[in-house]
Amino acid sequence: MTKFHLKLIREIVEKYHKGINYNHRAGNNNPSRLIERHFPSVYGPAGKNRVRRCVVCTANDKRRESRYECKSCNVGLCVDPCFKIHHTELNY
Ligand SMILES: [Zn+2]
Ligand SMILES: [Zn+2]
Repeated sequence: MTKFHLKLIREIVEKYHKGINYNHRAGNNNPSRLIERHFPSVYGPAGKNRVRRCVVCTANDKRRESRYECKSCNVGLCVDPCFKIHHTELNY
């Protein structure tokens, strides 16, 4: 994970969140994961191969593990596309 990649992910996430803010005006029943700014972070201590089960994949009957998580939601997520799905879709 280079600084460049981190920057790229943040830019992508910010784009998603612009869309979310727009949606937020339409209704206020969205959970915080759809409203707040969340960023992916590497799960576990550096150098160790720790992974978390991705909650979006799990919800869709897929078994995938990811090295990334959303600390704010405290869930494991694939960076692409599950991080976006988890933070933009109410039902996945
Ligand atoms: Zn996933
Ligand atoms: Zn989150």
